[in-house]
Amino acid sequence: MGLFDGKRGLVFGVANKNSIAWGIAQALHQEGAELGFSYAGQVLRKRVIPLAESIGSTFVEECDVTDDLAIDRLFAQAQDHFGTLDFLVHSIAYAPREELSGRFVDTSREGFRTALDVSCYSLVALARRAYPLMPHGGAILTMTYYGAEKVTPNYNVMGVAKAALEATVRYLAWDLGKHRIRVNAISAGPVKTLAAAGVAGFRKSLHYVGQVAPLGNITQQDVGNAARFLLSPWADHITGQVLYVDGGYNIMGAPDPEVMGELTG
Ligand code: NAD
Repeated sequence: MGLFDGKRGLVFGVANKNSIAWGIAQALHQEGAELGFSYAGQVLRKRVIPLAESIGSTFVEECDVTDDLAIDRLFAQAQDHFGTLDFLVHSIAYAPREELSGRFVDTSREGFRTALDVSCYSLVALARRAYPLMPHGGAILTMTYYGAEKVTPNYNVMGVAKAALEATVRYLAWDLGKHRIRVNAISAGPVKTLAAAGVAGFRKSLHYVGQVAPLGNITQQDVGNAARFLLSPWADHITGQVLYVDGGYNIMGAPDPEVMGELTG
């Protein structure tokens, strides 16, 4: 018996095998979930199809989340394929590369708009189409980062987008609670993925967090395990929350003096 036997859901945001969304998908599949995948752009198709096939998934459709008609089309296809849904995973973020280095004060209007549209508004857009397909209730999960709360140099406008995303989780949790749909976020520690590589200095941050966090660096499997909990009946009355899966990094006020020594020489 799997925790997700008979449950169906959509996963947005698999780009390749390193994607956090893929870690989540694997964890859900291990518990018997039936999954559909949506990817952004034809370039990713050849990566996502074999991954989906490897876990017996036949629903793999393109959808650019900045395009309302594409989202409408995707949900119509999902309704035809699945009938109803039990969960949705939103693991999507984007900001133009030039916004992810240097000074936040130099953020362009267009860069700000794009980051907030792709990384935050898309959750609203997907939730609005998903909830009518969840007549028996359900769960929605998104991915955030500590840069929403504390300044993380180079993360810049993405930190602002994640702050908006975390507030969006709370407002959606209120609205959709009436439909017995829960909405939560996981705040993950750094994981080496395509999106992460776009943030200047990522490799150094990864190393630093690995030294500072009580449990060191995390993996996409760690996120998958927490996602499995938040999307399952075990989290039945948990909504509007941000759960840290960051090896405990967020509790630290200062690094171990040994690590400080490494930094200061
Ligand atoms: P990733 O590059 O594997 O995934 C990002 C996904 O966003 C890709 O699949 C990409 O195709 C998709 N995407 C971008 N623009 C899109 C659009 N217009 N329409 C549809 N999809 C679009 O990287 P990841 O690290 O797995 O990122 C997944 C989520 O996890 C993101 O929200 C990211 O901010 C968050 N996160 C990542 C880390 C990390 O260190 N990797 C830490 C905390 C949170």
